[in-house]
Amino acid sequence: MNAILEVRDLSKSFGGIKAVNGVSFDVAPGELKALIGPNGAGKSTCFNMLMGQLEPTSGTVRLQGEKITGLPPRKIWRRGVGRTFQITGTYQSMTVAENVQMALISHHRRLFSVLPYAHTLYRDEALALLDVVGMAEQADRACAILAYGDLKRLELAIALSHNPKLLLMDEPTAGMAPKERINLMQLTADIVRDRGISVLFTEHDMDVVFAHAHHIMVLNRGELIAEGTAAEVRENARVQEVYLGG
Ligand code: ADP
Ligand code: MG
Repeated sequence: MNAILEVRDLSKSFGGIKAVNGVSFDVAPGELKALIGPNGAGKSTCFNMLMGQLEPTSGTVRLQGEKITGLPPRKIWRRGVGRTFQITGTYQSMTVAENVQMALISHHRRLFSVLPYAHTLYRDEALALLDVVGMAEQADRACAILAYGDLKRLELAIALSHNPKLLLMDEPTAGMAPKERINLMQLTADIVRDRGISVLFTEHDMDVVFAHAHHIMVLNRGELIAEGTAAEVRENARVQEVYLGG
């Protein structure tokens, strides 16, 4: 099947620093793919270019065959590229369900027409999405009192409300306890399987990566140095060198 995302020769320089240097890869439909690499390898720079936050110095990005390079973030998001790394996307004064309802209202472009009765709209759809992320029982709690791990799961429900084809998650488990990390990635893997979407994520916890990613790419100093299954990447001499500081 055709790739959902095709990245070709993507580069970004900041002054003299080549933060990302000639990176090419595909993401297949239904694939859970990890981009790993040491701090400063260029992972976030890559993600920011895929989302339209940063303009590449050169290279192209295609979503389902259509070039999206250089489009503003909102247009890329509208075409079906979701993301979850922004915790600030939740409205603290609203309940969990209301946050998802707001996302659904925005997705259906009905924000201004429905504001007076927004709290009743898309309630059932919101509850269904909260059920997907295991938060149905917390639907009517205020966001402000949620535990960090629950806020992360709420973020995932909000991202899903836009029905993305591809989800980009830049260090989704940062700041979480080890057990919570495994849970969030298990949940993500279940969503990938059940909804057939693709996910590209970065993560520094290797246990999480090796346990869940279908395919792993390793970035070092802006260049992809290895890719493959967990076993292949683990045994790769260059990867060991980078991670063990050889
Ligand atoms: P990672 O996410 O893998 O830790 P980054 O993509 O954040 O790596 O950073 C890659 C390199 O690009 C680093 O050397 C970083 O200092 C540099 N960099 C990132 N963003 C900027 C920026 N806005 N201006 C200048 N240099 C940057
Ligand atoms: Mg980063």
